[in-house]
Amino acid sequence: KIRVRFAPSPTGPLHIGGVRTALFNYLFAKKHGGTFILRIEDTDQNRYVEGAEQYIIDALNWCGIPFDEGIGKDGGFGPYRQSERKSLYKEYAQKLIDNGKAYYAFDTAEKLDFHRKDHEQKGKTFIYNWHNRLKLDNSLSLMPEEVQQRLNNGEDYVIRFLTPPDEKLHLKDIIRGDIEIDTNILDDKVLFKSDGMPTYHLANIVDDHLMEISHVIRGEEWLPSLALHQQLYDAFGWQAPNFAHLPLIMKPVGKGKLSKRDGEKMGFPVFPLSWQESEGYKEAGYFPEAVINFLALLGWNPGTEQEIFTLSELVETFSLERVNKSGARFDPEKTKWYNQHYLQKSNNEDLAKLYFPTVDKYADDANRKELGYITKVISLIKERAVFVSDFWELSDYFFIAPSTYNEKAVKKQWKEDTADIMNQLIPVLEPISNFNSENTEQLVKDWITETELSFGKVMPPLRLFLVGDMKGPHIFDIMELLGKQESISRIQKALS
Ligand code: GLU
Repeated sequence: KIRVRFAPSPTGPLHIGGVRTALFNYLFAKKHGGTFILRIEDTDQNRYVEGAEQYIIDALNWCGIPFDEGIGKDGGFGPYRQSERKSLYKEYAQKLIDNGKAYYAFDTAEKLDFHRKDHEQKGKTFIYNWHNRLKLDNSLSLMPEEVQQRLNNGEDYVIRFLTPPDEKLHLKDIIRGDIEIDTNILDDKVLFKSDGMPTYHLANIVDDHLMEISHVIRGEEWLPSLALHQQLYDAFGWQAPNFAHLPLIMKPVGKGKLSKRDGEKMGFPVFPLSWQESEGYKEAGYFPEAVINFLALLGWNPGTEQEIFTLSELVETFSLERVNKSGARFDPEKTKWYNQHYLQKSNNEDLAKLYFPTVDKYADDANRKELGYITKVISLIKERAVFVSDFWELSDYFFIAPSTYNEKAVKKQWKEDTADIMNQLIPVLEPISNFNSENTEQLVKDWITETELSFGKVMPPLRLFLVGDMKGPHIFDIMELLGKQESISRIQKALS
């Protein structure tokens, strides 16, 4: 039975990298008919941020990758917040103490600090391991009675994992293959603190076991913890889940991991939804389908040239074996490219609904606020848009008559005979009963030919008068939508 989990800590908004981790878990679960679980890892109370948990849930929902099991969706493995599972962890820490796999340590912060600095001065890193243990005031060298005495006295302690020296650990990762680690380079990590809270490591392993997680799919930053995690499973006598560590998401340029600062510097969102003063993908006008599609290809490749995938196509194609080992470079331009693609593919009426609030705010004529009209406008201008928010700039003149005219264009197009020609055009337009694009175009062209005028003398000023600028789609398409009356009135207005 495939069971995977996304296990964020509610320390702030979900970063786009976190969404990618959630997505890969989701895809893997769906592909194998498994369960996608959301677990909130909130044991570090100092880093708890109000609202972060709800943000994570909202973000997953907006992306269209909701969890199957978790807060509010009990699957029989709850509670799904680690803070509500507190009592459990102590019990498991005690088990490790009892079977000699962990021990109480009473080292003071000053002492640890001293050793760290001392090592630093000698150009070494301080490892809290079998070699250094004896230099420390640690309880391995204390008699059990003495340990009990100190606990009774209420001395500060932590419970540390006892890393056995001189062993070679064989770790397995689906993406990275086999990894061998020498235990002598490992710290005796803290599992439990005297404040009654477990550390990430202990809580994570206990919960993955109790929640029957089959595959742990998470970011590469957790790879260094794998050795400890594997040892913990062994120490408990549990079968470890399969592991897959996803490659880092790299900055668009230069070296290193993508950060919030890169987004601020280069002007692209790094969060799915807005958080405080940072704009999210949603609010910046991205479609969730575009965000999901570009995230899927950050670190995974389908083995073909295909770039466009719907969510269900992703589910079908996804495999952990095709996740890359090397970091994936984040490309904000590509993100826009995806959005443009999804916008072009979107149904015009759906887009019209999204565009409506803007039109409603600015248009003065009620007829121009009809969804049918807005839909037609969109069909003419959407080609050049990346976001719905580009629509106004591309189509404002469909909703309000120009009150100013592009000065440069006026200079260029306004000739001695322009007013005269445009005045003559009005009676050509007036009798047209079927004012559709094709018909009007034919009649205007016939008139131009008959009067031996040139297109250059008619078309550019006509566009300028109707649009206020030289932009826009085919001019007769514009006229059809504006209608005869409005077209003529705009010409008259420009001439007056
Ligand atoms: N709570 C960890 C995080 O915030 C989870 C890491 C894991 O998936 O094991 O990323």
